[in-house]
Amino acid sequence: AVPLVVAINTSLAAQNGMLVRDRIAMEQARELDVIVFDKTGTLTEGEQGVVDIETVEGITDEEALGLAAAVEADSEHMIAEAIRQAATERNVDSPRATGFEAIKGQGVRARVDDELIHVGGPNLLSTMEGEVPDVLRAFAERSGENARTVVYLLRDGEPVAAFALADVIREESYQVVDALHELGIEVAMLTGDSADVANAVADELGIDTVFAEVLPEDKDEKVQELQEQGNLVAMVGDGVNDAPALTRADIGIAIGSGTDVAVQSADIILVQNNPTDVVRLVKLSKASYRKMQ
Ligand code: ADP
Ligand code: MG
Repeated sequence: AVPLVVAINTSLAAQNGMLVRDRIAMEQARELDVIVFDKTGTLTEGEQGVVDIETVEGITDEEALGLAAAVEADSEHMIAEAIRQAATERNVDSPRATGFEAIKGQGVRARVDDELIHVGGPNLLSTMEGEVPDVLRAFAERSGENARTVVYLLRDGEPVAAFALADVIREESYQVVDALHELGIEVAMLTGDSADVANAVADELGIDTVFAEVLPEDKDEKVQELQEQGNLVAMVGDGVNDAPALTRADIGIAIGSGTDVAVQSADIILVQNNPTDVVRLVKLSKASYRKMQ
């Protein structure tokens, strides 16, 4: 009887856009205690664009944007795309950069003329010596309160400009959090973004637990912390950075047009890029396996 139920269950899942790579995970989904979501692109739409720029004296908005776009030329990150798009829209001239390097979970760097230029978030700043000037600090605070992601432009290690990027919470995310709560499941969020932004999104959605400013290599530790408290934990994410956490979780769920690495690390793949499918997955697991008992 077991194989039959499992077969029905996985074909039902497939009809619902869920690819089950590990059937045990599908069965365990009915007993989940905590679901951890990646923020950007999973609970939110992903960075939509540069909405504000602040600079120190001696550099204009356009110069800052041009430099940032030059350094981001080689990056596939959503932030890089948003910065390049802003530079194009404003017809800003970008200088030529060389020696691109991505710093995982932090930002990027490259050389422009004789200067070393970095673009990155709070995780990057904490590894640098340079003090953040008051104008940029105040800008970041304002932006964070409005749930805007802030990245900085650094010239030879000194922060000289900051960009605020707008992101919007996905409409479906509200129902997802409510529905999971109704099912008795705790909802957590894991992100490399700043605590300000993370808390603003979490407050808005009613999320129970927030892990912010987490480096990619530390994401799986947060999942482990929850497991060590006795929880059965699922992780939902789409990025390369989420792969170790997807592997660590009792149930790894890759969502949407996830990167190959995320898909390979997951037990279940939600084909449509819709977080509502996480709720349907839990309900399907509950309905299917109740029949077996
Ligand atoms: P998330 O956890 O939100 O998926 P990532 O781990 O990809 O984010 O990145 C964490 C943080 O590192 C971002 O919020 C940003 O501050 C910074 N960052 C990463 N890549 C870039 C980039 N190409 N340009 C600027 N900042 C970046
Ligand atoms: Mg992500």
